[in-house]
Amino acid sequence: MEKLIMIKYGELTTKKGNRDNFISCLLNNIHNKLKTYDVKITKDRSRMYIESKNIDEISEVLTNIFGVHGIVIAYKINTNNIEEIKKASLEVLNFKNFETFKVVTNRALKDYPMDSMKISKVVGGYILANTKNKKVDVHNPEEILRIDLRSEGCFIYTNEIPGIGGYPVGIQGKGLLMLSGGIDSPVSGYLAMKRGINIDCIYFESPPHTSIEAKNKVISLANILCKYTNKIKIHIVPFTKIQEAIYKNNASNYMITIMRRMMYRIAQEVALKNNLKVLINGESIGQVASQTLESMSVINEVTNMPVIRPVACLDKLEIIDIAKKIGTYETSILPYEDCCTIFLPKHPIIKPVLNKCISIEKRFNFEKLIKEAIDNIEVIEVPKKTDVDIENLL
Ligand code: ATP
Ligand code: MG
Repeated sequence: MEKLIMIKYGELTTKKGNRDNFISCLLNNIHNKLKTYDVKITKDRSRMYIESKNIDEISEVLTNIFGVHGIVIAYKINTNNIEEIKKASLEVLNFKNFETFKVVTNRALKDYPMDSMKISKVVGGYILANTKNKKVDVHNPEEILRIDLRSEGCFIYTNEIPGIGGYPVGIQGKGLLMLSGGIDSPVSGYLAMKRGINIDCIYFESPPHTSIEAKNKVISLANILCKYTNKIKIHIVPFTKIQEAIYKNNASNYMITIMRRMMYRIAQEVALKNNLKVLINGESIGQVASQTLESMSVINEVTNMPVIRPVACLDKLEIIDIAKKIGTYETSILPYEDCCTIFLPKHPIIKPVLNKCISIEKRFNFEKLIKEAIDNIEVIEVPKKTDVDIENLL
């Protein structure tokens, strides 16, 4: 009996036309994540199988790979002989501590001499006859023994570890995540990746108004998001001059609105240059003045790229729950100022008017400043050994 991992694709299998693409993208992502292990991976149209000496560690890694819907540690015998199946089933259950059980059989081999019900009954009977104090409970069993009969042999297993689901990262191409150091944007990045979008990140920094710790925090957040993908590129935009120009030109209560229009303009250019198809950010409707519907439409006006806002309709508490689950929360709440909070006016405008934005923007040559900022972008890729000691930030 051989112990191996069986991966269930779940949602992928419903996308008939695209199935092969999905499976090869998932396979590629799994290969990337398991580079450091000695593994043999095989696939068919409904499952993937991983053979390795490090089954437990690998199944842990798999729980963070999008497109994996279920992880099963299965035992395989290379025969479909019913006597062998009975013996192997008993052996699998002998590892377990339980009183009630049932057997569920799935038979891909339709010409097998017994039907699924019959196989379950025969194997269940054998288990009862060879154990003490066990009972069959078809409604609420403590253990379910699953038997999958396939042409390549028989797979026997008990519990399935749920995967994180979604689509394999990359199947939908790439987007640009506006990553600040807050709680919302890393969650948005995670949710976008869950739909199969590979991400680059863009971060606007304003030294000396923002600290090196704020920048390192963003790098650290991107690094945490790498748990769910392979590598992430961060485009770090020097934003100080633009922010100061807006401030000096008396944008007053339009400060944030104009600043965000500048961010969107830059993000769009960076996206186009790098072949990234959408912008992604952590805006949540009504959360702050710049996220009212009026603000969002005036800000959005500078771009014709699709903008995805995965947390737009979530409550803050729901976003926090996800941040905790994905491991970004503790880093997000570190107290380093973002560039937005430093220039925050006392009463930011809640219902900005487009013409007013345009007239403020005419007061200075923002195109030149934007070009200069884009020419001076620093690109960092994570994970990598940088002089930023990510662990020590926390
Ligand atoms: P977060 O939304 O990440 O918790 P926040 O709430 O402080 O941080 P907001 O001021 O609400 O951020 O900005 C809304 C969104 O705009 C952010 O989620 C992020 O996508 C983007 N954004 C804001 N500031 C920056 C920045 N300095 N660099 C990159 N993106 C930013
Ligand atoms: Mg926010």
